[in-house]
Amino acid sequence: MAAQFRALRDSIEHNMIAEIIAVGSEMLTPHRQDTNSLYLTAGLNRLGVSVAFKTIVGDNFEHLVSAAGIAIRRADIVVFSGGLGPTEDDLTREAAARALGIGAHRDDAVLEGLRQRFAARKIPMPANNQKQADVLDGAILLENKNGSAPGQWLDTVVAGPQGQPHRKIVILLPGPPGELKLMFDSECRPRLSAVLPARHIATRMLRMALIPESSVDARTAPIYQKFTDVETTILAGKGEIQLHFSAAKPTLAEARARVDELAELIEAEMGEDIFSNDGSTLEEVVQLMLGLRDMTLSVAESCTGGLLSERLTAVPNISRNFVGGAIVYSDALKMKFARVPAEVLDQYGAISAEVARALAEGIRAETGSSLGIGITGLAGPAVPTTGPDAGKPVGLVYIGLSDGEDTQVKQLQLPGDRGRIRLWASMHALEMLRRYLQ
Ligand code: ATP
Ligand code: MG
Repeated sequence: MAAQFRALRDSIEHNMIAEIIAVGSEMLTPHRQDTNSLYLTAGLNRLGVSVAFKTIVGDNFEHLVSAAGIAIRRADIVVFSGGLGPTEDDLTREAAARALGIGAHRDDAVLEGLRQRFAARKIPMPANNQKQADVLDGAILLENKNGSAPGQWLDTVVAGPQGQPHRKIVILLPGPPGELKLMFDSECRPRLSAVLPARHIATRMLRMALIPESSVDARTAPIYQKFTDVETTILAGKGEIQLHFSAAKPTLAEARARVDELAELIEAEMGEDIFSNDGSTLEEVVQLMLGLRDMTLSVAESCTGGLLSERLTAVPNISRNFVGGAIVYSDALKMKFARVPAEVLDQYGAISAEVARALAEGIRAETGSSLGIGITGLAGPAVPTTGPDAGKPVGLVYIGLSDGEDTQVKQLQLPGDRGRIRLWASMHALEMLRRYLQ
């Protein structure tokens, strides 16, 4: 008894891990995705529980028993989603019982509740529905306020390979997302918090733009690897790198202190490469800095066709600092709206450092803003075969930034398709602006 008590306490004190089993053959097709597990993962994480495994299993008894058996062995908390319905292919209850080596019994109260639901709709209850009243021995029923199948909560002890006792919490939830979410929040969260030690999670995010993920990792890994109690994740996409830190501690203050300590060390290492440490986007940071410097901005966009303006104008209150600009796709409009001299276009071609410079200086002069940005480039896939731009490669982009005294021009050779080149060009323009304003 003493040994069992100790094992139970140990299993509560070590970091509990969960496995989610999404049941349903439809999620093994290209047409449906398992979204329930995302909701469950967020909820479990907030309780300080990491999700170590997610499994998707079709409506097949043998496969379900196999997946359930593995999950019960390797996770402390196993949450099933789906397969609690009345039809032949709803097998979660039976499979969980088989994997746990326990029985199930028909619950009269649930059966009566189901009969009444059908009676209220004046239809006879099909015999199949009776199995929704089958309850795992030892389980507690979880009320389904949005549907017919109740969920189940089983707090039990199973024997490990050497016969040692392991506490397991097995939860069966219905598949329809509306039913699952409500049941998890109202029935499972309070029960889980009562069982789990008090854990509070603090998170922080640092954002960087246009730096290779490998170089961020090489510079930061020696630091974050020392914080074994903080989980660090690097996410990369769309020209941005995000470093996410998460710590779970008995109090929020302790958790916060750890993620802050790590974030500060990484900030010291990465310096100005980090554009945000509070979740704000690159556009928002640019807006803030333009505001602080009391500067206005205008843009002349060729290959990005307004993408930069779109991103800037998505930020509330940018009207104080962003005056607007022009989409100058043709040579004619580059001359008309951004004062690009015809000789410059003829001599260097539209895709040139000289035109990027002229666009930045011209739009700035035309609008009277403090800063002007000009973007010109070749997004492809076609390449010019005649004229001064003939032979220039797809992905060649020039960005000019002028403040009236100086104009800097950046030349880029961007990889990828048209969409990626345009997006990255807008990203480079924002980052150039941020570094100028820093
Ligand atoms: P029911 O009583 O409705 O039969 P059930 O518990 O058997 O409940 P399922 O039949 O497995 O649930 O699923 C019902 C609905 O919920 C389906 O539309 C299904 O696509 C959706 N669903 C099931 N599992 C998930 C999941 N993991 N993520 C998102 N949607 C899901
Ligand atoms: Mg199903």
